[in-house]
Amino acid sequence: MDNGIILLKKLISIPSETGNEKVICNFVYSLLKKEGFLVQKISVGNRFNVIAKIGKPKVFLQAHLDTVPPFIKFSQDEKFIYGRGACDTKGSAAAMITASLELAKSGVKDFGLIFTVGEEVDFTGVKKLSKYNFPFVIVGEPTSLKAVNAHFGILVFKITAKGKAAHSSLPEKGINAIQLLLETLNRVNKIKIFPESILTLAKIEGGIADNIIPETASALYSMRISPNDKKDYIKEFKSALSKYTKVEQILNVSSVNNKIPSELSFFKVGEMLKGSTELAFFKNGVILGPGDIKFAHSQDEKIEKKELKEAVRIYSKIVENFIGSNLAT
Ligand SMILES: [Zn+2]
Repeated sequence: MDNGIILLKKLISIPSETGNEKVICNFVYSLLKKEGFLVQKISVGNRFNVIAKIGKPKVFLQAHLDTVPPFIKFSQDEKFIYGRGACDTKGSAAAMITASLELAKSGVKDFGLIFTVGEEVDFTGVKKLSKYNFPFVIVGEPTSLKAVNAHFGILVFKITAKGKAAHSSLPEKGINAIQLLLETLNRVNKIKIFPESILTLAKIEGGIADNIIPETASALYSMRISPNDKKDYIKEFKSALSKYTKVEQILNVSSVNNKIPSELSFFKVGEMLKGSTELAFFKNGVILGPGDIKFAHSQDEKIEKKELKEAVRIYSKIVENFIGSNLAT
C-alpha cells in the first residue's frame, strides 16, 4: 500500500470527534518527533494543537484533526477510501505528513506543519494560535485540489427578550417577552442585507404554557457574510433593539479574500466558499486539499486514492516553491 493510504488508514482508525482529539494529537506529535521535526504541543483544554517545524519555515501545511460524529470505520475499494474524516480533513493531514516526511528525508527544510482541534464546533484550537506569526498557511480542506483564496464569514447572534411572567388572565401584571421579541425581529427584518450575504433566522424559543405570560424569548440568527460586504451588522442589530431586548454575539469568523502568491500560480483557482474555514484565523494563506466537500459530514464520506496521492505530490511541490522563493515573511 501507498504511504499516504497507510497513514490515512491509521488516522481514520483513531476516533477524534471534537473534544476527544487527544489520542490522535499524540499519535501525530510522536510520529513527527520521531522523524526529527521540532514539535510543540499547544494546549487546548484537555487536548492540544501540534506545531512541527524543520528549520525556519516559510510555509506551513495545516489541517484540523477533529471530525464530526458519528465515527465511521476505515474501509476501501479499488478507487476510494471510506471512513469518518476521509476528506474532512484526515485525507489532507495524511497527505501533508506523507509529503513532509519524504521532504525531510531528502534534506529539505524551512517548512512546518500545524494540526488543530475543535474546528468542527467553534474553531477553539486555531483561535489559540493567534499569537504566532505564520508567514503562509496551506489550509487542508476538501477543495478537489484547487487553491481557494476567498470565503464568506460567519456571524451568529442571539436576540433575547426579557419580560415579566404573570397569569394570562392578568395581562396588566405581566410583560409578554414573545411579543417584545417579535417587535424587535420586525425591525431586524427591515435591515438591508448586502445582496451576496445571507441572513437566516435559525431558531426561536420562548414561553412555557397557555396560562402564563411568557417571561423570556429568544431568536438565534446565523449570517453568512461575503468578503465584499463591509457593513457593521452588529451595530445594525443593536439599533433594532428595544429596552426589553438585547443582542449577544455567539460566533464571529471574518471573511477572507487573500491574494494567490506566485508560488501557487500554477494552480487552478477554486470558487469562493460560502462556508468558513480556519484560514480566517491566519494572516495569509489559501485552502487546498484533496476530496470533494459534498462528501464531508456524510455517511458516505470518502476520498479518491488517486487524489490523495496527487495531494502528496502537490504539497511537496508547494513547499519546494516556497522555500526556493523570496516571499517576504
Ligand atoms: Zn467539516
